[in-house]
Amino acid sequence: LFTITSAMTSTLSVPNPGIQDTHRCQLSPLAVPERLLLGPGPSNADATVVAAMNRQPIGHLDPAYLTLMDEVQELLRYAWQTDNAMTYPVPGTGSAAMEATLANGIEPGDVVLVGVNGYFGHRLVDMARRYGAEVRTITQAWGQPFSLQELEKALDQHRPNLLALVHAETSTGVRQPLEGVGDLCHQRDCLLLVDTVTSLGGMPIFLDAWQVDLAYSCSQKGLSCPPGVSPFTMSSRAVAKLEQRQTPVANWYLDATLLRKYWGSERVYHHTAPINLTYALREALRLLAEEGLDARWQRHQQTAEKLWAGLEAMGLSCHVAQEFRLPTLTTVRVPDGVEAKAVAQQLLLEHNIEIGGGLGDLAGQVWRIGLMGANSYPEKVDTLLQALKQVLV
Ligand code: PLP
Repeated sequence: LFTITSAMTSTLSVPNPGIQDTHRCQLSPLAVPERLLLGPGPSNADATVVAAMNRQPIGHLDPAYLTLMDEVQELLRYAWQTDNAMTYPVPGTGSAAMEATLANGIEPGDVVLVGVNGYFGHRLVDMARRYGAEVRTITQAWGQPFSLQELEKALDQHRPNLLALVHAETSTGVRQPLEGVGDLCHQRDCLLLVDTVTSLGGMPIFLDAWQVDLAYSCSQKGLSCPPGVSPFTMSSRAVAKLEQRQTPVANWYLDATLLRKYWGSERVYHHTAPINLTYALREALRLLAEEGLDARWQRHQQTAEKLWAGLEAMGLSCHVAQEFRLPTLTTVRVPDGVEAKAVAQQLLLEHNIEIGGGLGDLAGQVWRIGLMGANSYPEKVDTLLQALKQVLV
Protein backbone atom coordinates (compact mmCIF):
# COMPACT_ATOMS: atom_id res chain seq x y z
CA LEU A 1 0.00 0.00 0.00
CA PHE A 2 2.88 2.36 0.62
CA THR A 3 6.63 2.39 0.01
CA ILE A 4 9.12 2.75 2.81
CA THR A 5 11.42 5.68 2.08
CA SER A 6 14.92 6.17 3.47
CA ALA A 7 13.67 9.12 5.61
CA MET A 8 11.15 6.81 7.30
CA THR A 9 13.73 4.15 8.12
CA SER A 10 16.10 6.53 9.91
CA THR A 11 15.02 6.96 13.56
CA LEU A 12 15.47 10.73 13.60
CA SER A 13 15.41 13.18 10.74
CA VAL A 14 16.88 16.09 12.77
CA PRO A 15 20.68 16.59 12.81
CA ASN A 16 22.16 14.54 15.66
CA PRO A 17 25.21 16.15 17.29
CA GLY A 18 25.90 12.94 19.22
CA ILE A 19 24.22 11.99 22.51
CA GLN A 20 26.36 12.50 25.61
CA ASP A 21 25.91 9.91 28.36
CA THR A 22 27.59 12.11 30.99
CA HIS A 23 24.37 12.57 33.01
CA ARG A 24 22.85 9.18 32.23
CA CYS A 25 22.97 7.74 35.74
CA GLN A 26 22.04 4.10 36.03
CA LEU A 27 19.92 3.96 39.17
CA SER A 28 18.26 1.14 41.02
CA PRO A 29 14.51 1.51 41.66
CA LEU A 30 13.58 4.15 44.24
CA ALA A 31 14.12 3.26 47.88
CA VAL A 32 13.19 5.69 50.64
CA PRO A 33 14.13 5.26 54.31
CA GLU A 34 11.25 4.90 56.73
CA ARG A 35 11.36 7.84 59.09
CA LEU A 36 9.19 9.04 61.89
CA LEU A 37 8.82 12.71 61.01
CA LEU A 38 8.50 14.57 64.29
CA GLY A 39 9.95 17.87 63.10
CA PRO A 40 8.23 21.04 61.92
CA GLY A 41 7.04 19.35 58.74
CA PRO A 42 6.51 17.49 56.59
CA SER A 43 4.83 15.10 58.95
CA ASN A 44 4.19 11.46 58.02
CA ALA A 45 1.22 11.13 55.70
CA ASP A 46 -1.59 8.82 56.72
CA ALA A 47 -1.27 5.39 55.00
CA THR A 48 -4.79 5.75 53.55
CA VAL A 49 -3.80 9.08 52.04
CA VAL A 50 -0.64 7.68 50.49
CA ALA A 51 -2.66 4.79 49.04
CA ALA A 52 -5.10 7.29 47.50
CA MET A 53 -2.28 8.76 45.42
CA ASN A 54 -1.49 5.39 43.94
CA ARG A 55 -4.20 5.58 41.25
CA GLN A 56 -4.15 6.62 37.63
CA PRO A 57 -4.70 10.33 37.05
CA ILE A 58 -7.97 11.33 35.40
CA GLY A 59 -8.54 14.52 33.43
CA HIS A 60 -8.82 17.79 35.32
CA LEU A 61 -12.20 18.44 33.65
CA ASP A 62 -13.49 14.88 34.00
CA PRO A 63 -16.90 14.93 35.74
CA ALA A 64 -15.50 12.58 38.40
CA TYR A 65 -12.67 15.03 39.08
CA LEU A 66 -15.08 17.97 39.23
CA THR A 67 -17.06 16.11 41.91
CA LEU A 68 -13.84 15.50 43.80
CA MET A 69 -13.04 19.23 43.64
CA ASP A 70 -16.44 20.03 45.17
CA GLU A 71 -15.76 17.54 47.96
CA VAL A 72 -12.36 19.02 48.70
CA GLN A 73 -13.79 22.53 48.83
CA GLU A 74 -16.61 21.54 51.14
CA LEU A 75 -14.30 19.65 53.51
CA LEU A 76 -11.80 22.50 53.57
CA ARG A 77 -14.63 24.80 54.65
CA TYR A 78 -15.36 22.37 57.47
CA ALA A 79 -11.68 22.15 58.49
CA TRP A 80 -11.37 25.93 58.60
CA GLN A 81 -14.91 26.56 59.88
CA THR A 82 -15.77 28.96 57.09
CA ASP A 83 -18.56 29.40 54.56
CA ASN A 84 -16.24 31.19 52.12
CA ALA A 85 -17.20 30.31 48.54
CA MET A 86 -13.61 30.97 47.45
CA THR A 87 -11.99 28.09 49.30
CA TYR A 88 -9.74 25.73 47.37
CA PRO A 89 -6.24 24.28 47.32
CA VAL A 90 -3.62 25.91 45.13
CA PRO A 91 -0.79 23.91 43.55
CA GLY A 92 2.45 24.21 45.47
CA THR A 93 3.48 24.12 49.11
CA GLY A 94 2.32 26.43 51.89
CA SER A 95 4.46 29.26 50.52
CA ALA A 96 2.47 29.17 47.26
CA ALA A 97 -0.80 29.60 49.16
CA MET A 98 0.86 32.33 51.24
CA GLU A 99 1.83 34.04 48.01
CA ALA A 100 -1.75 33.61 46.72
CA THR A 101 -3.23 35.47 49.69
CA LEU A 102 -0.78 38.34 49.33
CA ALA A 103 -0.96 38.54 45.53
CA ASN A 104 -4.76 38.70 45.62
CA GLY A 105 -5.12 40.73 48.81
CA ILE A 106 -2.66 43.54 48.05
CA GLU A 107 -2.68 46.32 45.48
CA PRO A 108 0.57 48.20 44.89
CA GLY A 109 0.82 51.04 47.40
CA ASP A 110 -1.36 49.34 50.03
CA VAL A 111 -0.15 49.66 53.58
CA VAL A 112 0.34 46.17 54.98
CA LEU A 113 1.01 45.66 58.67
CA VAL A 114 2.75 42.38 59.52
CA GLY A 115 3.10 40.90 62.99
CA VAL A 116 6.67 39.65 63.18
CA ASN A 117 7.43 37.37 66.13
CA GLY A 118 9.21 34.63 64.22
CA TYR A 119 10.65 33.44 60.92
CA PHE A 120 7.38 33.25 58.97
CA GLY A 121 6.42 36.83 59.84
CA HIS A 122 9.62 37.84 58.05
CA ARG A 123 8.60 35.78 55.02
CA LEU A 124 5.26 37.61 54.92
CA VAL A 125 7.14 40.93 54.96
CA ASP A 126 9.39 39.84 52.11
CA MET A 127 6.52 38.60 49.96
CA ALA A 128 4.24 41.59 50.64
CA ARG A 129 7.03 43.96 49.53
CA ARG A 130 7.36 42.05 46.26
CA TYR A 131 3.67 42.77 45.55
CA GLY A 132 4.29 46.50 45.97
CA ALA A 133 2.98 46.94 49.51
CA GLU A 134 4.25 49.62 51.83
CA VAL A 135 5.07 47.23 54.67
CA ARG A 136 5.02 48.23 58.32
CA THR A 137 5.78 45.81 61.12
CA ILE A 138 4.85 45.26 64.71
CA THR A 139 7.35 43.05 66.49
CA GLN A 140 7.37 40.82 69.53
CA ALA A 141 10.03 38.56 71.04
CA TRP A 142 10.35 35.11 69.42
CA GLY A 143 8.12 33.01 71.66
CA GLN A 144 5.61 35.71 72.63
CA PRO A 145 2.26 36.43 70.98
CA PHE A 146 0.80 39.90 70.35
CA SER A 147 -1.84 41.15 72.76
CA LEU A 148 -5.09 42.59 71.44
CA GLN A 149 -4.08 45.98 72.88
CA GLU A 150 -0.74 45.92 71.01
CA LEU A 151 -2.51 45.07 67.78
CA GLU A 152 -5.12 47.79 68.28
CA LYS A 153 -2.43 50.38 68.93
CA ALA A 154 -0.50 49.32 65.81
CA LEU A 155 -3.67 49.40 63.68
CA ASP A 156 -4.35 52.96 64.87
CA GLN A 157 -0.77 54.01 64.28
CA HIS A 158 -0.31 52.51 60.80
CA ARG A 159 -3.91 52.52 59.43
CA PRO A 160 -3.13 49.51 57.18
CA ASN A 161 -5.26 48.11 54.37
CA LEU A 162 -4.31 44.63 55.54
CA LEU A 163 -3.03 43.08 58.78
CA ALA A 164 -1.11 39.78 58.45
CA LEU A 165 -0.56 37.47 61.41
CA VAL A 166 0.80 33.97 61.86
CA HIS A 167 -1.64 31.85 63.87
CA ALA A 168 0.90 29.12 64.65
CA GLU A 169 4.52 30.32 64.37
CA THR A 170 6.44 27.16 63.52
CA SER A 171 9.77 28.80 64.27
CA THR A 172 8.87 29.55 67.89
CA GLY A 173 5.97 27.27 68.81
CA VAL A 174 3.74 30.17 69.79
CA ARG A 175 -0.02 30.47 69.22
CA GLN A 176 -1.38 33.87 68.28
CA PRO A 177 -4.84 34.34 69.84
CA LEU A 178 -7.17 35.72 67.16
CA GLU A 179 -10.38 36.40 69.07
CA GLY A 180 -11.36 40.03 68.57
CA VAL A 181 -8.66 40.85 65.99
CA GLY A 182 -11.04 40.70 63.02
CA ASP A 183 -13.38 43.15 64.73
CA LEU A 184 -10.56 45.63 65.29
CA CYS A 185 -9.51 45.33 61.65
CA HIS A 186 -12.98 45.73 60.18
CA GLN A 187 -13.79 48.76 62.35
CA ARG A 188 -10.80 50.32 60.54
CA ASP A 189 -11.61 49.06 57.04
CA CYS A 190 -8.64 46.69 57.10
CA LEU A 191 -8.53 43.07 55.94
CA LEU A 192 -7.20 40.32 58.21
CA LEU A 193 -4.85 37.72 56.72
CA VAL A 194 -3.84 34.68 58.78
CA ASP A 195 -1.20 31.96 58.27
CA THR A 196 -2.67 28.64 59.43
CA VAL A 197 0.06 26.39 58.04
CA THR A 198 0.85 24.73 61.37
CA SER A 199 -2.62 25.02 62.88
CA LEU A 200 -5.08 23.60 60.32
CA GLY A 201 -6.23 20.13 61.33
CA GLY A 202 -4.41 20.24 64.66
CA MET A 203 -5.89 23.00 66.81
CA PRO A 204 -8.99 25.16 67.06
CA ILE A 205 -9.59 27.48 64.11
CA PHE A 206 -12.80 29.40 63.52
CA LEU A 207 -12.11 31.52 60.45
CA ASP A 208 -15.60 33.02 60.13
CA ALA A 209 -16.17 33.58 63.85
CA TRP A 210 -12.77 35.30 63.97
CA GLN A 211 -13.65 37.33 60.85
CA VAL A 212 -10.53 36.29 58.96
CA ASP A 213 -10.52 37.53 55.35
CA LEU A 214 -7.60 35.67 53.81
CA ALA A 215 -6.00 32.46 55.02
CA TYR A 216 -3.68 29.77 53.77
CA SER A 217 -2.31 26.49 54.96
CA CYS A 218 -0.43 23.42 53.77
CA SER A 219 -1.20 19.75 53.29
CA GLN A 220 1.85 18.18 54.94
CA LYS A 221 1.28 18.92 58.62
CA GLY A 222 -2.02 18.64 60.48
CA LEU A 223 -3.76 17.17 57.43
CA SER A 224 -1.33 14.21 57.15
CA CYS A 225 -0.96 14.48 53.41
CA PRO A 226 2.21 14.78 51.30
CA PRO A 227 3.26 18.34 50.42
CA GLY A 228 2.25 19.93 47.11
CA VAL A 229 -1.29 21.32 47.32
CA SER A 230 -2.13 24.08 49.76
CA PRO A 231 -5.46 25.39 51.05
CA PHE A 232 -6.36 28.99 50.28
CA THR A 233 -9.48 30.97 51.18
CA MET A 234 -10.93 34.48 50.78
CA SER A 235 -13.91 36.05 52.56
CA SER A 236 -16.57 38.02 50.68
CA ARG A 237 -14.88 41.19 51.97
CA ALA A 238 -11.60 40.13 50.37
CA VAL A 239 -13.42 39.14 47.17
CA ALA A 240 -15.06 42.59 47.03
CA LYS A 241 -11.62 44.17 47.22
CA LEU A 242 -10.36 41.79 44.53
CA GLU A 243 -13.22 42.81 42.24
CA GLN A 244 -12.48 46.50 42.69
CA ARG A 245 -8.76 46.24 41.91
CA GLN A 246 -7.25 48.91 39.67
CA THR A 247 -4.35 46.64 38.69
CA PRO A 248 -4.27 42.97 37.65
CA VAL A 249 -3.10 40.43 40.23
CA ALA A 250 0.65 40.36 39.72
CA ASN A 251 0.92 36.55 39.77
CA TRP A 252 -0.84 34.79 36.87
CA TYR A 253 -0.65 31.27 38.32
CA LEU A 254 -2.24 32.27 41.61
CA ASP A 255 -4.66 34.94 40.35
CA ALA A 256 -7.97 34.21 42.10
CA THR A 257 -9.95 36.04 39.40
CA LEU A 258 -8.77 33.34 36.98
CA LEU A 259 -8.66 30.41 39.41
CA ARG A 260 -12.24 30.94 40.51
CA LYS A 261 -13.40 30.26 36.95
CA TYR A 262 -11.95 26.77 37.34
CA TRP A 263 -12.98 26.16 40.95
CA GLY A 264 -16.33 27.94 40.54
CA SER A 265 -19.32 26.98 38.39
CA GLU A 266 -17.69 27.89 35.04
CA ARG A 267 -15.08 25.10 35.22
CA VAL A 268 -12.78 26.83 32.72
CA TYR A 269 -9.31 25.35 32.26
CA HIS A 270 -6.64 27.37 34.02
CA HIS A 271 -3.77 24.97 34.69
CA THR A 272 -3.40 21.20 34.79
CA ALA A 273 -4.43 20.34 38.31
CA PRO A 274 -2.13 18.17 40.46
CA ILE A 275 -4.63 15.33 40.19
CA ASN A 276 -3.04 12.71 42.43
CA LEU A 277 -2.26 15.20 45.16
CA THR A 278 -5.90 16.26 45.06
CA TYR A 279 -6.89 12.61 45.58
CA ALA A 280 -4.61 12.60 48.60
CA LEU A 281 -5.99 15.84 50.00
CA ARG A 282 -9.53 14.59 49.51
CA GLU A 283 -8.75 11.48 51.54
CA ALA A 284 -6.90 13.46 54.21
CA LEU A 285 -9.90 15.75 54.60
CA ARG A 286 -12.31 12.81 54.57
CA LEU A 287 -10.39 11.27 57.49
CA LEU A 288 -10.47 14.58 59.33
CA ALA A 289 -14.24 14.85 58.90
CA GLU A 290 -14.70 11.24 59.97
CA GLU A 291 -12.78 11.91 63.19
CA GLY A 292 -14.48 15.28 63.74
CA LEU A 293 -12.76 18.54 64.60
CA ASP A 294 -13.48 18.40 68.30
CA ALA A 295 -11.99 14.91 68.72
CA ARG A 296 -9.04 15.80 66.54
CA TRP A 297 -8.21 19.01 68.38
CA GLN A 298 -8.51 17.20 71.74
CA ARG A 299 -6.23 14.42 70.51
CA HIS A 300 -3.57 16.94 69.49
CA GLN A 301 -3.82 18.80 72.79
CA GLN A 302 -3.63 15.62 74.89
CA THR A 303 -0.71 14.19 72.90
CA ALA A 304 1.20 17.46 73.23
CA GLU A 305 0.55 17.57 76.97
CA LYS A 306 1.98 14.06 77.28
CA LEU A 307 5.10 15.24 75.46
CA TRP A 308 5.44 18.32 77.69
CA ALA A 309 5.13 16.20 80.84
CA GLY A 310 7.70 13.70 79.52
CA LEU A 311 10.17 16.45 78.63
CA GLU A 312 9.75 18.04 82.02
CA ALA A 313 10.37 14.67 83.71
CA MET A 314 13.67 14.54 81.80
CA GLY A 315 14.64 17.97 83.08
CA LEU A 316 14.00 19.70 79.75
CA SER A 317 11.94 22.87 79.42
CA CYS A 318 9.71 24.34 76.74
CA HIS A 319 10.46 27.72 75.22
CA VAL A 320 6.86 29.01 75.23
CA ALA A 321 4.54 29.58 78.21
CA GLN A 322 1.97 26.76 78.35
CA GLU A 323 -0.97 29.12 77.70
CA PHE A 324 0.39 30.03 74.25
CA ARG A 325 2.07 26.72 73.35
CA LEU A 326 1.08 25.07 70.09
CA PRO A 327 -0.23 21.52 70.40
CA THR A 328 1.21 20.84 66.95
CA LEU A 329 4.77 22.10 67.43
CA THR A 330 6.79 22.32 70.62
CA THR A 331 10.04 24.24 70.98
CA VAL A 332 12.31 22.63 73.56
CA ARG A 333 15.23 24.54 75.06
CA VAL A 334 18.59 22.89 74.36
CA PRO A 335 20.40 22.42 77.72
CA ASP A 336 23.72 24.19 78.22
CA GLY A 337 26.65 22.23 76.86
CA VAL A 338 24.54 20.10 74.51
CA GLU A 339 25.17 20.28 70.74
CA ALA A 340 21.64 20.68 69.31
CA LYS A 341 22.53 19.56 65.79
CA ALA A 342 24.42 16.47 66.95
CA VAL A 343 21.41 15.28 68.97
CA ALA A 344 19.04 15.72 66.03
CA GLN A 345 21.50 13.93 63.76
CA GLN A 346 21.81 11.00 66.15
CA LEU A 347 18.03 10.71 66.48
CA LEU A 348 17.76 10.54 62.71
CA LEU A 349 20.59 8.15 61.97
CA GLU A 350 20.26 5.82 64.96
CA HIS A 351 16.53 5.98 65.66
CA ASN A 352 15.01 7.04 62.31
CA ILE A 353 13.31 9.98 64.00
CA GLU A 354 13.44 13.46 62.51
CA ILE A 355 13.11 16.50 64.75
CA GLY A 356 13.86 20.09 63.78
CA GLY A 357 16.49 22.53 64.96
CA GLY A 358 15.98 26.21 65.76
CA LEU A 359 15.43 28.75 63.01
CA GLY A 360 16.58 32.39 62.85
CA ASP A 361 16.85 33.97 66.30
CA LEU A 362 16.40 30.56 67.94
CA ALA A 363 19.05 28.70 65.89
CA GLY A 364 21.01 26.37 68.16
CA GLN A 365 18.81 27.26 71.15
CA VAL A 366 15.81 24.98 70.65
CA TRP A 367 14.68 21.74 69.08
CA ARG A 368 11.35 21.75 67.33
CA ILE A 369 9.13 18.72 67.85
CA GLY A 370 6.03 18.33 65.72
CA LEU A 371 3.13 16.07 66.68
CA MET A 372 0.75 16.56 63.80
CA GLY A 373 -2.02 14.59 62.17
CA ALA A 374 -1.12 10.89 61.93
CA ASN A 375 1.82 11.48 64.30
CA SER A 376 -0.21 13.00 67.10
CA TYR A 377 -0.60 9.81 69.17
CA PRO A 378 0.78 8.83 72.59
CA GLU A 379 2.82 5.91 71.14
CA LYS A 380 4.80 8.38 69.02
CA VAL A 381 5.56 10.45 72.09
CA ASP A 382 6.80 7.32 73.91
CA THR A 383 9.01 6.38 70.95
CA LEU A 384 10.52 9.85 70.82
CA LEU A 385 11.09 10.20 74.57
CA GLN A 386 12.78 6.81 74.76
CA ALA A 387 15.11 7.68 71.91
CA LEU A 388 15.83 11.13 73.31
CA LYS A 389 16.75 9.62 76.69
CA GLN A 390 19.24 7.31 75.00
CA VAL A 391 20.77 10.10 72.98
CA LEU A 392 21.03 12.57 75.86
CA VAL A 393 22.70 10.22 78.39
N1 PLP B 1 4.12 29.45 57.24
C1 PLP B 1 4.43 28.68 58.30
C2 PLP B 1 3.96 29.07 59.65
C3 PLP B 1 5.19 27.52 58.10
O1 PLP B 1 5.50 26.74 59.14
C4 PLP B 1 5.62 27.19 56.80
C5 PLP B 1 6.43 25.97 56.56
O2 PLP B 1 6.71 25.21 57.44
C6 PLP B 1 5.26 28.03 55.74
C7 PLP B 1 4.51 29.14 56.00
C8 PLP B 1 5.69 27.71 54.34
O3 PLP B 1 5.17 26.49 53.93
P1 PLP B 1 5.95 25.54 52.89
O4 PLP B 1 7.27 25.21 53.49
O5 PLP B 1 5.02 24.37 52.79
O6 PLP B 1 6.09 26.28 51.62
